[in-house]
Amino acid sequence: MERLTALTWQRALWDQLVGWQERLPHAVLLHGGRGIGKRHLAMAFGQLLLCESPGAGRPCGECASCRLLAADNHPDFRWLVPAADMPARDEEEGDEGDEAPASGGRSRKAPSREILIDQVRKVGEFLGVSSHRGGRRVVLLAPVEALNGPAANALLKMLEEPPAGAVFLAVADDIDAVLPTIRSRCVLLRVPAPPPEEALRWLREQGVDDAEARLAEAGGAPLAIVAEETADERSRLDPAAREALLAVLARGAGASAADAVGAVPRDVAVGPAIRLFQRWGWDLLAERMAQRVRYHPGQKRTLATLARAVDPPRLAHWLAALAEAQAVSEHPLNPRLAVEQALLGYLDAMQSTGDAR
Ligand SMILES: [Zn+2]
Repeated sequence: MERLTALTWQRALWDQLVGWQERLPHAVLLHGGRGIGKRHLAMAFGQLLLCESPGAGRPCGECASCRLLAADNHPDFRWLVPAADMPARDEEEGDEGDEAPASGGRSRKAPSREILIDQVRKVGEFLGVSSHRGGRRVVLLAPVEALNGPAANALLKMLEEPPAGAVFLAVADDIDAVLPTIRSRCVLLRVPAPPPEEALRWLREQGVDDAEARLAEAGGAPLAIVAEETADERSRLDPAAREALLAVLARGAGASAADAVGAVPRDVAVGPAIRLFQRWGWDLLAERMAQRVRYHPGQKRTLATLARAVDPPRLAHWLAALAEAQAVSEHPLNPRLAVEQALLGYLDAMQSTGDAR
Protein backbone atom coordinates (compact mmCIF):
# COMPACT_ATOMS: atom_id res chain seq x y z
CA MET A 1 0.00 0.00 0.00
CA GLU A 2 0.99 3.55 -0.18
CA ARG A 3 2.85 5.01 2.75
CA LEU A 4 0.60 7.80 3.78
CA THR A 5 2.44 10.92 4.70
CA ALA A 6 1.67 14.52 5.51
CA LEU A 7 0.90 16.88 2.64
CA THR A 8 3.60 19.42 1.87
CA TRP A 9 1.87 22.20 3.79
CA GLN A 10 1.48 19.99 6.86
CA ARG A 11 5.14 19.14 7.41
CA ALA A 12 5.68 21.21 10.54
CA LEU A 13 2.54 19.80 12.09
CA TRP A 14 3.57 16.29 11.10
CA ASP A 15 6.94 16.67 12.81
CA GLN A 16 5.13 17.82 15.91
CA LEU A 17 2.84 14.78 15.87
CA VAL A 18 5.74 12.41 15.26
CA GLY A 19 7.53 13.98 18.21
CA TRP A 20 4.52 13.19 20.39
CA GLN A 21 4.37 9.53 19.50
CA GLU A 22 5.82 8.19 22.72
CA ARG A 23 3.76 10.40 25.03
CA LEU A 24 0.69 10.74 22.93
CA PRO A 25 -2.41 12.50 24.27
CA HIS A 26 -5.40 10.16 24.05
CA ALA A 27 -7.35 12.55 21.88
CA VAL A 28 -5.96 14.87 19.24
CA LEU A 29 -8.37 17.22 17.50
CA LEU A 30 -7.19 18.53 14.14
CA HIS A 31 -9.16 21.55 13.08
CA GLY A 32 -9.15 23.99 10.19
CA GLY A 33 -11.01 24.82 6.99
CA ARG A 34 -12.87 22.25 4.98
CA GLY A 35 -10.99 20.32 2.31
CA ILE A 36 -7.44 21.22 3.36
CA GLY A 37 -6.39 17.67 4.25
CA LYS A 38 -7.16 17.22 7.94
CA ARG A 39 -8.57 13.75 7.46
CA HIS A 40 -5.63 12.78 5.29
CA LEU A 41 -3.27 13.93 8.04
CA ALA A 42 -5.20 11.99 10.68
CA MET A 43 -5.19 8.89 8.50
CA ALA A 44 -1.44 9.18 7.84
CA PHE A 45 -0.74 9.59 11.54
CA GLY A 46 -3.03 6.67 12.34
CA GLN A 47 -1.04 4.53 9.92
CA LEU A 48 2.19 5.61 11.56
CA LEU A 49 0.84 4.75 15.02
CA LEU A 50 -0.22 1.28 13.90
CA CYS A 51 2.75 0.52 11.63
CA GLU A 52 4.92 -2.29 12.94
CA SER A 53 8.16 -1.09 11.39
CA PRO A 54 8.08 2.66 10.91
CA GLY A 55 11.22 4.46 9.81
CA ALA A 56 12.22 8.11 9.92
CA GLY A 57 8.78 9.20 11.08
CA ARG A 58 6.96 7.40 8.29
CA PRO A 59 4.89 4.24 8.16
CA CYS A 60 6.56 1.45 6.16
CA GLY A 61 3.60 0.67 3.92
CA GLU A 62 4.54 -3.01 3.85
CA CYS A 63 4.05 -4.59 7.26
CA ALA A 64 0.96 -6.61 8.12
CA SER A 65 -0.51 -3.62 9.94
CA CYS A 66 -0.06 -1.26 7.01
CA ARG A 67 -1.58 -3.83 4.67
CA LEU A 68 -4.59 -4.45 6.92
CA LEU A 69 -5.17 -0.74 7.20
CA ALA A 70 -4.97 -0.31 3.43
CA ALA A 71 -7.62 -3.01 3.07
CA ASP A 72 -9.73 -1.14 5.66
CA ASN A 73 -9.60 -4.29 7.72
CA HIS A 74 -7.29 -3.48 10.62
CA PRO A 75 -8.61 -5.01 13.85
CA ASP A 76 -7.20 -2.15 15.95
CA PHE A 77 -8.58 0.67 13.82
CA ARG A 78 -12.13 2.05 13.67
CA TRP A 79 -13.84 4.82 11.75
CA LEU A 80 -16.29 6.93 13.70
CA VAL A 81 -17.92 8.84 10.85
CA PRO A 82 -21.46 9.39 9.58
CA ALA A 83 -22.75 6.37 7.68
CA ALA A 84 -22.91 8.60 4.62
CA ASP A 85 -19.15 9.17 4.83
CA MET A 86 -18.09 5.57 5.29
CA PRO A 87 -15.25 4.81 2.92
CA ALA A 88 -16.77 3.07 -0.07
CA ARG A 89 -16.66 -0.69 -0.07
CA ASP A 90 -18.38 -3.03 -2.40
CA GLU A 91 -21.60 -1.13 -2.88
CA GLU A 92 -24.13 -3.51 -1.43
CA GLU A 93 -22.26 -4.81 1.56
CA GLY A 94 -21.42 -1.97 3.88
CA ASP A 95 -20.91 -3.37 7.36
CA GLU A 96 -23.44 -1.08 9.01
CA GLY A 97 -25.98 -3.86 8.83
CA ASP A 98 -28.77 -1.61 10.09
CA GLU A 99 -30.59 -1.33 6.84
CA ALA A 100 -30.93 -4.37 4.72
CA PRO A 101 -30.51 -3.50 1.07
CA ALA A 102 -33.89 -3.42 -0.57
CA SER A 103 -34.30 -6.14 -3.13
CA GLY A 104 -34.53 -3.59 -5.92
CA GLY A 105 -31.19 -2.22 -4.77
CA ARG A 106 -31.67 1.50 -5.33
CA SER A 107 -34.44 2.33 -2.89
CA ARG A 108 -32.42 2.13 0.31
CA LYS A 109 -32.96 4.77 2.94
CA ALA A 110 -30.35 7.51 2.68
CA PRO A 111 -27.51 6.87 5.14
CA SER A 112 -27.24 9.23 8.07
CA ARG A 113 -25.15 12.38 7.93
CA GLU A 114 -24.83 12.24 11.71
CA ILE A 115 -22.67 10.11 13.97
CA LEU A 116 -25.15 8.13 16.07
CA ILE A 117 -24.96 6.74 19.57
CA ASP A 118 -24.93 3.13 18.36
CA GLN A 119 -21.74 3.86 16.47
CA VAL A 120 -20.14 5.37 19.57
CA ARG A 121 -21.23 2.33 21.59
CA LYS A 122 -19.63 0.00 19.06
CA VAL A 123 -16.40 1.95 19.40
CA GLY A 124 -16.75 1.60 23.17
CA GLU A 125 -16.99 -2.18 22.78
CA PHE A 126 -14.00 -2.14 20.46
CA LEU A 127 -11.97 -0.22 23.02
CA GLY A 128 -13.19 -2.48 25.81
CA VAL A 129 -11.20 -5.45 24.52
CA SER A 130 -7.45 -5.44 24.29
CA SER A 131 -5.47 -4.71 21.18
CA HIS A 132 -5.45 -7.50 18.61
CA ARG A 133 -1.97 -6.86 17.36
CA GLY A 134 -0.45 -5.73 20.63
CA GLY A 135 -0.07 -2.08 19.74
CA ARG A 136 -2.29 0.92 19.96
CA ARG A 137 -5.93 1.15 19.04
CA VAL A 138 -6.87 4.07 16.86
CA VAL A 139 -10.27 5.66 16.30
CA LEU A 140 -10.61 8.20 13.52
CA LEU A 141 -13.48 10.53 14.37
CA ALA A 142 -14.58 12.84 11.58
CA PRO A 143 -16.09 15.30 11.69
CA VAL A 144 -16.67 15.92 15.39
CA GLU A 145 -19.50 18.31 14.49
CA ALA A 146 -21.49 15.36 13.12
CA LEU A 147 -21.94 13.75 16.56
CA ASN A 148 -25.56 14.15 17.57
CA GLY A 149 -26.42 14.92 21.20
CA PRO A 150 -26.63 11.40 22.65
CA ALA A 151 -23.57 10.29 20.66
CA ALA A 152 -21.56 13.24 21.97
CA ASN A 153 -22.52 12.39 25.54
CA ALA A 154 -21.52 8.76 25.11
CA LEU A 155 -18.21 9.81 23.58
CA LEU A 156 -17.56 12.22 26.41
CA LYS A 157 -17.59 9.37 28.90
CA MET A 158 -14.98 7.56 26.83
CA LEU A 159 -12.81 10.65 26.62
CA GLU A 160 -12.99 11.07 30.39
CA GLU A 161 -11.63 7.61 31.08
CA PRO A 162 -9.89 6.48 27.95
CA PRO A 163 -8.79 2.85 27.86
CA ALA A 164 -5.02 2.40 27.84
CA GLY A 165 -3.46 2.50 24.41
CA ALA A 166 -6.53 4.05 22.78
CA VAL A 167 -6.04 7.12 20.62
CA PHE A 168 -8.79 9.26 19.18
CA LEU A 169 -7.74 11.19 16.11
CA ALA A 170 -10.54 13.68 15.59
CA VAL A 171 -11.19 16.18 12.85
CA ALA A 172 -13.34 19.32 12.87
CA ASP A 173 -14.01 21.88 10.14
CA ASP A 174 -15.49 24.35 12.57
CA ILE A 175 -13.91 24.26 15.99
CA ASP A 176 -16.50 26.70 17.32
CA ALA A 177 -19.22 24.16 16.58
CA VAL A 178 -17.56 21.51 18.75
CA LEU A 179 -18.96 21.13 22.26
CA PRO A 180 -16.62 22.78 24.80
CA THR A 181 -16.77 19.63 26.92
CA ILE A 182 -15.35 17.60 24.05
CA ARG A 183 -12.89 20.28 23.01
CA SER A 184 -11.46 20.51 26.50
CA ARG A 185 -10.64 16.79 26.54
CA CYS A 186 -8.64 16.94 23.33
CA VAL A 187 -5.33 18.44 22.40
CA LEU A 188 -6.16 20.92 19.66
CA LEU A 189 -3.98 21.37 16.62
CA ARG A 190 -4.78 23.86 13.91
CA VAL A 191 -4.13 22.51 10.41
CA PRO A 192 -2.96 25.21 8.00
CA ALA A 193 -4.60 25.83 4.64
CA PRO A 194 -2.23 25.25 1.73
CA PRO A 195 -0.61 28.16 -0.08
CA PRO A 196 -2.20 28.24 -3.57
CA GLU A 197 0.91 27.08 -5.41
CA GLU A 198 1.24 24.00 -3.19
CA ALA A 199 -2.45 23.24 -3.56
CA LEU A 200 -2.13 23.49 -7.35
CA ARG A 201 0.92 21.26 -7.43
CA TRP A 202 -0.86 18.66 -5.35
CA LEU A 203 -3.98 18.79 -7.55
CA ARG A 204 -1.91 18.30 -10.69
CA GLU A 205 -0.20 15.34 -9.08
CA GLN A 206 -3.66 13.87 -8.51
CA GLY A 207 -4.40 14.27 -12.20
CA VAL A 208 -7.07 16.93 -11.73
CA ASP A 209 -7.77 18.81 -14.96
CA ASP A 210 -8.22 22.52 -15.00
CA ALA A 211 -6.71 22.70 -11.53
CA GLU A 212 -6.59 26.47 -11.29
CA ALA A 213 -10.29 27.10 -11.99
CA ARG A 214 -11.35 24.17 -9.84
CA LEU A 215 -9.22 25.35 -6.93
CA ALA A 216 -10.76 28.81 -7.16
CA GLU A 217 -14.24 27.34 -7.17
CA ALA A 218 -13.42 25.18 -4.17
CA GLY A 219 -12.19 28.21 -2.24
CA GLY A 220 -8.58 27.06 -2.12
CA ALA A 221 -9.45 23.67 -0.59
CA PRO A 222 -7.78 21.08 -2.83
CA LEU A 223 -8.94 17.96 -1.01
CA ALA A 224 -12.54 19.06 -1.35
CA ILE A 225 -12.13 18.74 -5.13
CA VAL A 226 -10.76 15.23 -5.02
CA ALA A 227 -13.33 14.25 -2.40
CA GLU A 228 -16.07 15.54 -4.67
CA GLU A 229 -14.75 13.50 -7.56
CA THR A 230 -14.81 10.34 -5.51
CA ALA A 231 -17.90 11.12 -3.43
CA ASP A 232 -20.72 8.76 -3.97
CA GLU A 233 -23.79 10.10 -5.62
CA ARG A 234 -25.82 10.69 -2.49
CA SER A 235 -23.49 13.40 -1.22
CA ARG A 236 -22.66 14.91 -4.58
CA LEU A 237 -24.52 17.41 -6.65
CA ASP A 238 -24.84 15.71 -9.99
CA PRO A 239 -23.54 17.77 -12.91
CA ALA A 240 -26.96 18.24 -14.53
CA ALA A 241 -28.49 19.51 -11.28
CA ARG A 242 -25.53 21.78 -10.71
CA GLU A 243 -25.85 23.25 -14.16
CA ALA A 244 -29.59 23.80 -13.78
CA LEU A 245 -29.14 25.52 -10.42
CA LEU A 246 -26.33 27.70 -11.77
CA ALA A 247 -28.54 28.69 -14.72
CA VAL A 248 -31.21 29.98 -12.32
CA LEU A 249 -28.59 31.84 -10.27
CA ALA A 250 -27.18 33.41 -13.42
CA ARG A 251 -30.62 34.72 -14.47
CA GLY A 252 -31.04 36.50 -11.16
CA ALA A 253 -34.30 38.45 -11.00
CA GLY A 254 -35.03 37.28 -14.54
CA ALA A 255 -35.78 33.77 -13.31
CA SER A 256 -39.28 32.89 -12.16
CA ALA A 257 -40.32 30.91 -9.11
CA ALA A 258 -41.33 28.13 -11.49
CA ASP A 259 -37.81 28.12 -13.01
CA ALA A 260 -36.35 27.81 -9.53
CA VAL A 261 -38.65 25.01 -8.45
CA GLY A 262 -38.11 23.21 -11.74
CA ALA A 263 -34.33 23.28 -11.31
CA VAL A 264 -34.33 21.37 -8.02
CA PRO A 265 -34.34 17.58 -8.38
CA ARG A 266 -36.31 15.55 -5.85
CA ASP A 267 -33.29 13.86 -4.23
CA VAL A 268 -31.04 16.93 -4.35
CA ALA A 269 -27.92 16.87 -2.14
CA VAL A 270 -28.71 19.73 0.23
CA GLY A 271 -25.24 20.51 1.58
CA PRO A 272 -23.52 20.82 -1.80
CA ALA A 273 -26.46 22.78 -3.27
CA ILE A 274 -26.44 25.30 -0.43
CA ARG A 275 -22.68 25.56 -0.71
CA LEU A 276 -23.03 26.36 -4.40
CA PHE A 277 -25.53 29.14 -3.53
CA GLN A 278 -23.25 30.52 -0.82
CA ARG A 279 -20.28 30.76 -3.14
CA TRP A 280 -22.39 32.42 -5.77
CA GLY A 281 -23.58 34.94 -3.19
CA TRP A 282 -20.08 35.59 -1.90
CA ASP A 283 -18.92 36.13 -5.47
CA LEU A 284 -21.74 38.61 -6.08
CA LEU A 285 -20.81 40.56 -2.96
CA ALA A 286 -17.08 40.50 -3.72
CA GLU A 287 -17.72 41.61 -7.29
CA ARG A 288 -19.97 44.40 -6.10
CA MET A 289 -17.56 45.60 -3.41
CA ALA A 290 -14.18 44.98 -4.98
CA GLN A 291 -14.77 43.81 -8.58
CA ARG A 292 -13.35 40.46 -7.58
CA VAL A 293 -14.72 36.98 -8.21
CA ARG A 294 -13.29 34.12 -6.24
CA TYR A 295 -15.30 30.96 -6.79
CA HIS A 296 -16.72 31.30 -10.28
CA PRO A 297 -14.10 33.12 -12.34
CA GLY A 298 -15.58 31.59 -15.49
CA GLN A 299 -18.84 33.50 -14.87
CA LYS A 300 -17.21 36.83 -14.10
CA ARG A 301 -19.15 38.70 -16.77
CA THR A 302 -22.54 37.39 -15.63
CA LEU A 303 -21.66 38.10 -12.02
CA ALA A 304 -20.56 41.62 -12.87
CA THR A 305 -23.88 42.34 -14.62
CA LEU A 306 -25.90 40.96 -11.72
CA ALA A 307 -23.72 42.63 -9.11
CA ARG A 308 -24.49 46.09 -10.47
CA ALA A 309 -28.14 45.66 -9.46
CA VAL A 310 -27.44 43.98 -6.14
CA ASP A 311 -28.50 45.50 -2.87
CA PRO A 312 -25.71 44.23 -0.57
CA PRO A 313 -27.74 44.19 2.67
CA ARG A 314 -30.47 42.12 0.98
CA LEU A 315 -27.91 39.69 -0.35
CA ALA A 316 -26.15 39.48 3.01
CA HIS A 317 -29.50 38.67 4.56
CA TRP A 318 -29.95 35.81 2.09
CA LEU A 319 -26.43 34.55 2.85
CA ALA A 320 -27.22 34.53 6.55
CA ALA A 321 -30.31 32.43 5.86
CA LEU A 322 -28.16 30.05 3.81
CA ALA A 323 -25.74 29.65 6.69
CA GLU A 324 -28.68 28.58 8.83
CA ALA A 325 -29.91 26.19 6.18
CA GLN A 326 -26.40 24.77 5.88
CA ALA A 327 -26.28 24.15 9.61
CA VAL A 328 -29.32 21.87 9.43
CA SER A 329 -28.51 20.40 6.01
CA GLU A 330 -27.46 17.14 7.65
CA HIS A 331 -31.03 16.33 8.50
CA PRO A 332 -33.49 18.36 6.45
CA LEU A 333 -37.05 17.15 6.72
CA ASN A 334 -37.45 17.59 3.02
CA PRO A 335 -34.26 18.12 1.00
CA ARG A 336 -36.04 19.41 -2.06
CA LEU A 337 -38.05 21.92 -0.10
CA ALA A 338 -34.96 23.18 1.73
CA VAL A 339 -33.12 23.86 -1.52
CA GLU A 340 -36.19 25.36 -3.19
CA GLN A 341 -36.63 27.78 -0.32
CA ALA A 342 -33.00 28.81 -0.51
CA LEU A 343 -33.28 29.43 -4.23
CA LEU A 344 -36.57 31.32 -3.92
CA GLY A 345 -34.88 33.44 -1.26
CA TYR A 346 -32.28 34.36 -3.83
CA LEU A 347 -34.89 35.39 -6.40
CA ASP A 348 -36.55 37.43 -3.70
CA ALA A 349 -33.31 39.17 -2.78
CA MET A 350 -32.50 39.89 -6.42
CA GLN A 351 -36.04 40.98 -7.20
CA SER A 352 -36.27 43.47 -4.39
CA THR A 353 -32.97 44.99 -5.43
CA GLY A 354 -34.41 45.45 -8.90
CA ASP A 355 -37.38 47.29 -7.35
CA ALA A 356 -35.13 49.50 -5.31
CA ARG A 357 -33.42 50.98 -8.28
ZN1 LIG B 1 4.02 -0.61 8.38
